[in-house]
Amino acid sequence: MATWTNWSRLSTAHPTQEVSPHDAGEVVDAVLAARHQSLTVKMPGTGHSFTDIAITDGLLLRPGGLRGIVAVDKDAMTVTALAGTTLAELNGALEKLDLTLHNMGDIDEQTVAGAISTGTHGTGGQRASLSAQVSGLELVTGRGELMRADAQQHPEVLDAARLGLGALGILTAVTFDVEPMFTLEAHESPMLWDEGLDRFEELATENHHFEMYWFPHTERLLTKRNNRTLDEPEPLSRMKHWLDDEFLSNRVFGWANRIGNRRPGLVRRINDISGSALSERRYSDVPHKVFTSSRTVVFREMEYAVPRAVAREALRDVRSTIEKNDWTISFPIEIRVCPADDVPLSTAYQRDSVYLAFHMNAQTDHTAYFRGIEDVLRGYDGRPHWGKLHTRTAEDLEPAYPRWADFQAIRERLDPDRLFTNAYLDRVLGA
Ligand SMILES: Cc1cc2nc3c(=O)[nH]c(=O)nc-3n(C[C@H](O)[C@H](O)[C@H](O)COP(=O)(O)OP(=O)(O)OC[C@H]3O[C@@H](n4cnc5c(N)ncnc54)[C@H](O)[C@@H]3O)c2cc1C
Repeated sequence: MATWTNWSRLSTAHPTQEVSPHDAGEVVDAVLAARHQSLTVKMPGTGHSFTDIAITDGLLLRPGGLRGIVAVDKDAMTVTALAGTTLAELNGALEKLDLTLHNMGDIDEQTVAGAISTGTHGTGGQRASLSAQVSGLELVTGRGELMRADAQQHPEVLDAARLGLGALGILTAVTFDVEPMFTLEAHESPMLWDEGLDRFEELATENHHFEMYWFPHTERLLTKRNNRTLDEPEPLSRMKHWLDDEFLSNRVFGWANRIGNRRPGLVRRINDISGSALSERRYSDVPHKVFTSSRTVVFREMEYAVPRAVAREALRDVRSTIEKNDWTISFPIEIRVCPADDVPLSTAYQRDSVYLAFHMNAQTDHTAYFRGIEDVLRGYDGRPHWGKLHTRTAEDLEPAYPRWADFQAIRERLDPDRLFTNAYLDRVLGA
């Protein structure tokens, strides 16, 4: 049987069986067959989670047969995609319909089901996470029942399964709220640490989508302001896009990382040069082309959401922790903003949040850095991204989530025999 490996190559599964279902009926048959043989079942997405969340040693359901848009409702402004549709495919189809998602993360390679299952998010807007943009879904429960959940039918299932960690069932379709297409104007500019932190609240409040990157061991930040505009789009030329986003952000960054791996003493200097090489640029385009870019340098990541009210203090604490340790960190730290939402296991549940994301290239041991920062962010009541590296367990996550018991009750109802569990879910949700 073929093995399955995730994007970061940190996680490998050796399933005993695999099936590629082409419709919900075939998912039902596969789940019932697995039950009969006492096998656990998982459908991964494209493996972009850094944790072991998607792996199984039982039945692996490949998502590739479940792709495409199955319903468009322009009155309700919703679009339904099969679970294995990638965000890029969804964005492309929406663009043809003159529609768009409200917000999205940094890349669009993930499947819609995988992205919502871990609370994949962008920055700012009224809804930062994809889970908060879901208004309906269809899933197959651990008893092999096909269930539609939306505002009318099983709303409590929709509530939990918008961010279900793959623990509640196999999603077969996801319905998103959509908006008429709009143009987004990007304004990227360098800034120094003190100014960025002093103006953080102003920048996060006054821009539709604000984020910034700090280059560790330096005073340098890159700020990104994305705002809706009624002006005609002025996209980057193909050459400029290739030069900035493919060549500099991926290839040159990849070479710099390889040099830094061999000569860690040079990382501070490289970060300073990278930070100072950044120049101001503006362009505008359809939202998905502004929000997302390609990431070809393989890395490992941990991301924590902290309450927005303490974010700057937490960031200063992170910086002094980095300076007290001898870690050399070549990847910028990404700082994003998320309004409070009502998704039970969302890292932004009922609190305005700021995400702090930490990356290490795949050749460098990330454990001391991530562990050290995690200790700091626990002190700020931080909640870890479910698809990124962290060491938290069910006992210490439960107090962070006011609706933990509601989620567990739905899990008990939909998957009483834990057909969909694995070691990661046993750790973070309990067996
Ligand atoms: C380069 C890179 C950039 C990233 N950028 C961002 C970002 O900007 N913002 C952010 O928040 N995260 C980001 N992530 C994290 C990523 O979005 C999440 O980890 C996401 O869950 C990955 O989706 P996937 O399709 O790869 O799902 P996987 O990682 O394969 O699976 C994730 C979970 O979804 C479940 N799942 C998948 N399909 C189904 C289904 N049909 N039914 C039930 N469960 C299912 C899996 O079983 C698993 O539990 C990034 C990751 C990488 C590698």
